[in-house]
Parts: sequence; C-alpha cells; structure tokens
Amino acid sequence: MPEEKTDHKTKSESALLEEAVLDHWQKCDLDGLVAKESLRRKKQFVFFDGPPFANGLPHYGHILAMSIKDAVVRFRLLLNEGVILKFGWDTHGLPVEYEVEKELNLKSRKDILKFGIKEFNNNCRNSVLKYRVEWEKVIKRLGRLGSVRDAYITMSPDYMEAIWWVFKQVYDKGLVYEAFQSLPYCPRCATPLSNFETSQGYKENVPADSLYVLFPLRESPEYLLAWTTTPWTLPGNILLALGGDFCYLLIKILEGEHQGKSVWVLKERVSSVFRDISYEVLKEEKGSNLIKKYTRGYKPLFSPLKKEAAIFKDCLFRLVEADFVSAEEGTGIVHIAPAYGEEDLLLTEAIFGKEKAKEIVELTQHIDSSGQVKKEFHLFAGSSVFEFNDLLKEKLLKEGKVLKEEKIFHSYPFCWRCDSPLIFYALPAWYIAVSKIKNELVAANKKIHWVPAHLKEGRFGKWLQEARDWAISRQRFWGTPLPIWRCLKCQNIRVFGSKEELLKAVGQRVTLEDLHRPEIDTVLVPCSCGAQMKRVEEVLDCWFESGAMPYAHQNILKDFSGDVEKFLKSGRFPADFIAEGQDQTRGWFYTLLVLSVILTKKPAFKNVIVNGMILAKDGKKLSKKLRNYPEVSEVFASYGADTLRLFLLSSPAVEAKEVRFSSEELAKTAYKSLNLAKNLLKFFQDYAKLHNLKDFVVCFQEETILDFWLKHRTFKAVLKTKEALLGFRLAKAAHEVIDYINDLSLWYLRRNRDRVRADVDSQKARIMLSNLLSALYHLAFMMLPFTPFFAEHIFLTLKEYLKEGQKLPVSLQLALWPNTEGYNDEILKDMLLLRKLVSEILNQRKNTQINVRQPLRKATIAYPGFLIEENLTAYERIICEETNILEVVFKKAKRLKVNIDTQIDEELRFLGAKREFLRLVQNLRKLNNCKLSDKIDLEIFAESEFIYKLAKEVNKEYGKRLLINSLTFRTQPENNFLTAEIFGNRFWLSIKRHF
Ligand SMILES: [Zn+2]
Ligand SMILES: [Zn+2]
Repeated sequence: MPEEKTDHKTKSESALLEEAVLDHWQKCDLDGLVAKESLRRKKQFVFFDGPPFANGLPHYGHILAMSIKDAVVRFRLLLNEGVILKFGWDTHGLPVEYEVEKELNLKSRKDILKFGIKEFNNNCRNSVLKYRVEWEKVIKRLGRLGSVRDAYITMSPDYMEAIWWVFKQVYDKGLVYEAFQSLPYCPRCATPLSNFETSQGYKENVPADSLYVLFPLRESPEYLLAWTTTPWTLPGNILLALGGDFCYLLIKILEGEHQGKSVWVLKERVSSVFRDISYEVLKEEKGSNLIKKYTRGYKPLFSPLKKEAAIFKDCLFRLVEADFVSAEEGTGIVHIAPAYGEEDLLLTEAIFGKEKAKEIVELTQHIDSSGQVKKEFHLFAGSSVFEFNDLLKEKLLKEGKVLKEEKIFHSYPFCWRCDSPLIFYALPAWYIAVSKIKNELVAANKKIHWVPAHLKEGRFGKWLQEARDWAISRQRFWGTPLPIWRCLKCQNIRVFGSKEELLKAVGQRVTLEDLHRPEIDTVLVPCSCGAQMKRVEEVLDCWFESGAMPYAHQNILKDFSGDVEKFLKSGRFPADFIAEGQDQTRGWFYTLLVLSVILTKKPAFKNVIVNGMILAKDGKKLSKKLRNYPEVSEVFASYGADTLRLFLLSSPAVEAKEVRFSSEELAKTAYKSLNLAKNLLKFFQDYAKLHNLKDFVVCFQEETILDFWLKHRTFKAVLKTKEALLGFRLAKAAHEVIDYINDLSLWYLRRNRDRVRADVDSQKARIMLSNLLSALYHLAFMMLPFTPFFAEHIFLTLKEYLKEGQKLPVSLQLALWPNTEGYNDEILKDMLLLRKLVSEILNQRKNTQINVRQPLRKATIAYPGFLIEENLTAYERIICEETNILEVVFKKAKRLKVNIDTQIDEELRFLGAKREFLRLVQNLRKLNNCKLSDKIDLEIFAESEFIYKLAKEVNKEYGKRLLINSLTFRTQPENNFLTAEIFGNRFWLSIKRHF
C-alpha cells in the first residue's frame, strides 16, 4: 500500500524525511567531505563508473545499476577505505546521431552530408547532454554519493586525445589492420557494426521469404536449384557452390508450372524440397563430377551488371566446391554473392586472389552504402534494399525463375540503435586483431570475480572463446576521429597518439581547438614521399571510447605522461569494482577487457556485479507506450528512494536475474521492513522522552538473557552483512539486515516492552532503552548501503541522545564500521531452539482450539539440550510468557517432543479472564489516544458480580501498569459506554483521560 500523502499533498512522510536528510547532506557538503577524507585514507578502493548516455531519461535499469554501485561504495567508505568517485557521460556514437537525425528529419547519410558535417556535429554536441539535469536530479534523489559536477565526458578534448593515445598503443603493438571484409551493416545508419554490437540485436522467429531459384546450365537443359533467404542478394551472384563429396540427384518434375524440367538437388534434401511436388529421380552424380562436367557453368539470372564485368565473364557463373555447403538446409547448392556474405567473400578471395575479389565485389555490389539500389543497376534503381527484396521476388516468380517460395522463421540481427534489419555488406574497415589475444583474454578473465559466478565461464567466458576481430571504424560523423593519416600518393600510413604528435608532423603552425570532424579532416600532414597525407574518413566505435575510460577519465596522457608503468604503480588501476547490466558482457565489460589486456596485460576490473532486467508486474518489458510501471518520480514521492533501493538491492536483480516490478511488490517486503525499523526508532524516542532520559552510551548492558542475546544477535548481523558485502553479494547482505530488523522488532522489542512502562523506574528503563539504542546504532551502519536516508536519520536522531554525540561525525557516512569483539554464537543457537520450542507449543495450543489468552497449567518438553544450561530458568520463563503456560518441565531427549496439559480449572479460568480484561483496557487506552504517561478514569456497569470481582483484581494487580487513576462502578451505563463481553458476561465501560 502506498503511504498516505501528507498535507504537502504530493509527498509522503517518507519522502519528506528523505528530503530533510538530503538537505543535511547538502548543508554539510557531504560529497566534498567524502572526497577530502578519501584522499587521506591509506587503503584505496578503485571504482570505475561506466558512462551512460544522457540523451534519454534514466529508467529503472539505470536506477538498479546506480543503487548497486552506491551501496558498494558507501560500504567501502565505512571500512575506512578511500573511494574516488567520478561519474561519466557517454556522448559519442550512433545513439546520439540517430536522435539528431530524427530531430532534423535527415533520412540518410547523404542527407547529413548535404546538411553539413559541422552543423550536424554541432547539433549532436547540443543534444547529447539534453537530459543531464534530469539525470543529476534523479542521481541525487536516489541518494547516490559523489558529485556529478566534475564528471568525465567522452566528447571533451582531453578525453578524445587520450583515446588517440590508447589507439596508438594498440596500433604500435601491431594489432590494428585494415581489411576488405563482409560485415554486419546497418543500411539506415550507413555504417558497419562490430560483431558484439550485432550480437546484442538478434531477434528470434523473424519471418522471411525464402526462394528456391532455378539456374539453367549452359551445356545442358538441366537446372541447378539454389535456396536463398535474401533474394535481394541474387544480382550479386557470381558462383554456385556444391559439396565435392556430396551426392546430387537429377529430379524430373512431374506436375505444375515447372512440369518436365530436370533439376539437380542434394540427395539428402530431395524429400524436403519436393515434399509437395511429385517427381521422379533420373540419375545420381557426385558434386565434384558435376563441377568437372559442366565447366561452362550456368546462365546468370541477370545480364552482367556492368560492362566492365565482361572482363570476368570467362571465370564467373561457374560451379565451384566449398566446404561450408551443408546437408541440413536448403538444396545443397549455395548461391555465392561476395559483395554481401562473409563466407562468400572468403571463397571468392580463395579462388581469384584478394585484389581480384575486391574488384569483383565493386563491380557486382548493386546496393550502395546507404542501402539503396545503385543507379547503374537498371532494375528498381533507387529503391531501398528491403523494398527491392519484395520487388525482385515478384519479378522472379512472374518470370518462372523460381521453383517455389517458402516462408521461414529465423533468428536475425537488427541494428541495436535504430532497429533496422542488418545486412552483410563487403567494405573496407579497420579492425583490432582480438582473435590474436584470445588466450590472454581468457587468462585475464580467470582473475575476475563475477557476481553471479556462472557468467565467468558461461555467457562471458564462452563469448571470449569465440572472440573475433573487432571492427572499430564507423563511417559516421559524431565520434573520436580515427587518428590515421594516409598518403594520397604512396598510401603510406601514420598514426598519431596526441595532438602534439600530430602538430609536430604538420610542421607549420595550426591551431586545433577541437578534434572533431570536419575540422580535423582539413589537417594535412606532409609525407616522406613529398605528397600529402590526409586523415581516413572514419570515426571510432563509441564502444572503444567507453572501453578506454580507465586511461582517459584519469588522463594517462597528461597526468602520467603516457607512461603505463607509472600508471599501473599509481594504484588507480585496475578497478576493484564495476557494475552494469547483463547486456554489457558483450559491450563495456568486453571492451574494457580487450583494451586492458592489450595495454597492461591485466583485467581492467577485479570484481563485477552484473544486474538483470527489471520487468513490469505482468512479466513484460517496461514500456513507455504501455505505461506498465509507476513513474520513478512518483515512487520517490510516495514510497521514497530508500524503499525502492531496498527492494531492488534485496532482489535477485543484483545477480543478473529478471525481477518483476510494481507498487505492490515494493510494499510487500522493502516497505514493510523499513516501517518496522522506523517503528523501532520511534519506540526508542517515545520512551526515552517518557522517562526523560539522555546521555546514552553505545554499549550493550546485559541485565537479562534477552539483552545478552541482543548483543550477540547484533554482532552476528554486523558480521554477516559485512561478509556478504565483501563478497559483493548485495541481496544476501540486504536479507541479513531485514532478518535482523525482524528479530529486533518481533523478538527483542516485543518481549521487552514492559521494561520501559510508565510505572517503571527510569533508571531501570534506561537499561533496555540503552540496549535498543545500541542495536539501532549498529543497524544504521548495516542499512546505510541500502537505505542511506533512513540510516542517516537514525544516526542523526541517536546523536542527540548520546553522551558523546557531539564528538560523532556530521554524517554516518564518515563514521567507521562497528567492531564486534567478543562475538559468540552460543546464545543465538539456544535462542533458536527456544523459539522453536515456543512455536511448537503454540502449534499444539492452536490444535486444542483454546484461546491463547487462556493460561494453561503445564507443558512437558523433551528436548536435545541447550548450550548454556545455566540459563535454563530464564529460558523457561520466556517460554511460559510466550505460550501463556504456567509451568514448563524439561526432559532431555534426542528428538523434540512437546506435551501440554489442557485441563482448565476455575483458577485458570479466572486468570484467563484477567488477561482478557487487561488486554481490553490496553486497547481502549490506544483507542482514546492516551499518551504513554496519561492516567485514566475507568467506569464500569456489569450484569454479573464476576466482572466487578475481575475489575477489582485487575486494578489491584495491574492498576499501576495501566495507569488507572480511579475505578468506579455505575448502577447503569451511560450512552457513551462501550459494550464488552468476557466469558459470556456482558458489561459496559468507559475510560477517560484523567487531567
Ligand atoms: Zn541503424
Ligand atoms: Zn607518400
């Protein structure tokens, strides 16, 4: 249930409390104090903050990751470690360009060039931090520690220059190369994507029209049947590949449009391809024999694309052998289009050599870099590749060049940014040879502690084993330009690792304020051959920039003069801890590792928490359109940030699992636990005031067994929470805290209320309250990582009651984790057994259906024995009180067994009635809003003597406790009297506050 909004109308009590704490943090400049204190501390905890894009509002996924980071950082500070907090913004790359294109209504790369790169980049610059202020608000309101003001920004000149430096290191190690390859390509964004960007965008069960295409042989009236799921690639066809050792059948079609035609198909595929067409088998031939037999190949579906293609006329449109031909799908005859397929290009290179293959691709590539059919290709010129796909399919079907069409559903990649279907497209691009360092990556991963652990060898480990070369160049505009200059004449290449290096090479005086395009493209460098060198056009993949953040956000170029050894010795690398979502196993986690292994031979991080997805309550993705989740700001205003944080951090989402999110879920555990804690603090305040007590000391005083238990129960919670947090197991730690709050509230407080009653001597009450205060003090530390607002509130409240309160720091965040010297778990084990006995007795009582307020005479307990036998009398008293049984007899036995005496005599009955009456008066006190110290006047009219006797007895025995000032028996009830009944005896009563 959402908390009642207060008179402020928009905010709940919780929200107001949190805002007061925020105020306090701001007034005392907590961020500044933490930063200063951190520098002083000997042990440093290195944390790298992954940069988010600020061109959208933060959602629950961000809030989850931020809460995780904040919890760990806050905990480490409590351990007397220094943490330098530097927030960051990711500002380059496709996400930004895509937004700006939408705003400016630019549809393609060509449109951008027409619009002008300078203007376009200016728009990107202005749009990229559009939501920065909103982000900063959410970050603060969430209670995240650290100043957001001096965040690192990937588009800043210093950051970009450091990126150049990192790139140069990779280049100098011989790991950068340029290649002509077929890459996943987004036709809308007009840029290739890396394999890991592609792997983020696969969708399942995507429908596609596949075609069985007939290729007529030149030397015979027979056909070869090839299968394709991308008909648009057919104009790029140059070869048909067969398996050399495979057996092919010549099939005569006996019905339909193609009746009478003879087609070659792989033997294993015949029954599937011809399952709905009647046919007969004419003959059988090995693949290699077909290749030898039909040396003149087949007639192309399209007349050669360009005149120049004639030079290849004699070697194209042939049958060739390939080992990737599969008997699992298709027809066993594969259509080869090197301009569009990875294997296709490799096969073409193997046959014709690299240079010739490149020429062939250039001649047969009928789709241009923006995904449109080139003008030179006269068929459907200007249509987009996907329109073209449909148009061409229709045309081929009409012309009878297709045996049949078949709808299939397959997994297909889409652009991670603009959601367009990707195509494979051959083009020159720059790569990092990740495959060469695969073993080093795998070895470095072994040193990383993953939470959850299975990701190490699972999702991430498997990904590393398959590591492929990283395409790092983007044919785009808004990014760090590749620092590669190439001679326009001799093609010689130079790479620059800093502005200074570049300017030195230029020789003459140039000013270079900004490294962005297009200014940088005008910088020419003289080549040793006498000609000029010009920068290659591409910009760097923005994942390179975030992967390079360890060296760029703490500027390795400026602060460490580019000296890696010095950088490593500084203790600022690797990170002790990072945290992000599971998608980053193929994003940031991966690029961090690739670059750190290349630069330092080490992993960039030692511990990583990977968070899972937050889903709506129906298990669907959170969607703005469906509005299937509460707004973040609304949750802050009703439940408060603490509840949200505690919910997220205690959930399996902190171990890469999916979690359903809704207001109901928030209320279930997090809100409830937090409320229990709030009531504990309130109880302390109320009773300390009642007894006018101050000058407490944080120290457990062991007057009773329960005090003794409380001390060790508290120590256990402190130890267990610390242990879990040291292992980066946040949910485990959060549940330790929640369990402790429950024990504190439902066991210690509930069993000890009588010790602070108004009629109890204040000095006696002080003991229990001092213990409660000590427990709350420890609780504040445990809660700080999860619910920093309420933890701080406990701390600030208790400070006022503490003798040495003045000497405590201005914020809990600057205090140190409490020690637990003298912890011993014997009493805890005993108390567990005792509570088990209690619940067993209560269970049996329940079965007898006798009201639990009715005292019973005796229980006999067979039990395995307590660890501290000398406490037995005390334990017995607790059991008696908890179960409302007058006497407990213990018997030792291996197995637990309980027997209760259910005989009720007159004496027990009267005792039961007394308890009922006592409870009734207590409830009425509450109903009348009596304060703890208010005295009452009690008036009664009853039909039977029994009630009068009862009332007198209760007044005699408990009058002081109930603060009864006077007890009056009336001869008839007044109108405002309440009706009550005990054991069938009706009576009327009223209680009034006595003034
Ligand atoms: Zn795209
Ligand atoms: Zn040159």
